Amino acid sequence: MNIKENFDKILKILPDTVKLVAVSKTKPNELIMQAYNMGYRIFGENKPQELKRKYDELPKDINWHMIGHLQTNKVKYIAPFVELIHAVDSIKLLKTINKEAIKNNRVINYLFQIHVAKEQSKFGLSCSIIEDIISSEEFSTLKNVNLVGLMAMATNTTNEELIANEFKEVKNCLNKLKSTFFADKEDFKELSIGMSQDYQIAVKQDSTMVRIGSLLFGSRDIV
Ligand SMILES: *Cc1c(COP(=O)(O)O)cnc(C)c1O
Repeated sequence: MNIKENFDKILKILPDTVKLVAVSKTKPNELIMQAYNMGYRIFGENKPQELKRKYDELPKDINWHMIGHLQTNKVKYIAPFVELIHAVDSIKLLKTINKEAIKNNRVINYLFQIHVAKEQSKFGLSCSIIEDIISSEEFSTLKNVNLVGLMAMATNTTNEELIANEFKEVKNCLNKLKSTFFADKEDFKELSIGMSQDYQIAVKQDSTMVRIGSLLFGSRDIV
């Protein structure tokens, strides 16, 4: 497997407006270092302890993104350094992130995960619940967390029209939140949509961040 070729191929397709989050979960440090030595600095992981271990072992100028479901009792592992938390799906989790951010004397950027896929098992909130959270009094008291957009996963299907419609739903929600709450908040703009299977569809729906693993590093190692 030639990592450089894999990166080059995807970067050629991605517009400049789209950030590539290289999903390195289950991958060894050597593979991450290959990408690092080619100049990549944004990596995504979905297990807090694995993320923390890799942060400890690898160069400190890597931007680490937590991309998967996060349990409140594991926020502490990543709060000191995480660059962006992609999948906030409850006010309880948000409050915990805020608390850990205060302990570390920093502000942590995050995205709300919106649920648009047909599968029941996927995590995430509806757009109207997200609106309720943002409108709540509690939300305005959380000063050490900063909302910069939305993240979603589409249904795992070959039906491209269904995927496109789900991504449109995410984009519509972002636009609605923007005009209702954040018209003057310049950094509220991120749409984290698109994985190996569907990133080209996501890019057409104005994705600003794609989370790509297997196309870059090969299929996931079994752990
Ligand atoms: C693993 C993972 C990805 C990347 O998936 P690939 O299909 O390997 O590109 C993206 N987002 C989340 C939340 C993931 O857990």
